[in-house]
Amino acid sequence: MMERTLFVDPARCIGCQACVAGCRECDSHRGKSMIHLDYIDVGHSVASLPTVCMHCEDPIAPCAQVCPADAILITADGVVQEALKERCIGCVNCVHACPFGVPKIAMEEKLQYKCNLCYDRSSRGLAPMCATVCPTGALWFGTLEELERERPGVRVADQFDFAGTVVQTGCAVVVGPSFGRSAVPGGM
Ligand code: SF4
Ligand code: SF4
Repeated sequence: MMERTLFVDPARCIGCQACVAGCRECDSHRGKSMIHLDYIDVGHSVASLPTVCMHCEDPIAPCAQVCPADAILITADGVVQEALKERCIGCVNCVHACPFGVPKIAMEEKLQYKCNLCYDRSSRGLAPMCATVCPTGALWFGTLEELERERPGVRVADQFDFAGTVVQTGCAVVVGPSFGRSAVPGGM
């Protein structure tokens, strides 16, 4: 997990779309939202879940590993950037490689877009736009120690098990006590 990172708490998400709107304001992909906000079991439940890039640490950025154009760069502090416009050829490899279903391809531009943790902000210690506008703290930016101070007893996971392949991530998810210290099933 990165020291200062984004925590996703699905139990707090009310599906209000503020993060989707806030993401559109980020300077790095102006006007396009990179948040995937899913409504789960519509008609039977009010549950919703925001998905952002988890900035995979181990294996490091599967999306970047499969990119034939070397279009996805990783900063020294572990933030996986969206594709460089001048390099991306829109081959969709990164979409297939991402275990969390994060990258989007604009077919008309042959260009990949994805969450880059609002690097223009987070590299200066500011929260990404989504965490800035989320009214419930379902998307929250800071250190684990700060989160624990604000939410005593909180448990987080930064390992996800995809049918036996464990992915260690730079961002983390808030989980219930039943997960203990084991990897969370991927795709939760
Ligand atoms: S779509 Fe672009 S960023 Fe994704 S793997 Fe292909 S060239 Fe790389
Ligand atoms: S979550 Fe997907 S897009 Fe983000 S670093 Fe991991 S593989 Fe790449």
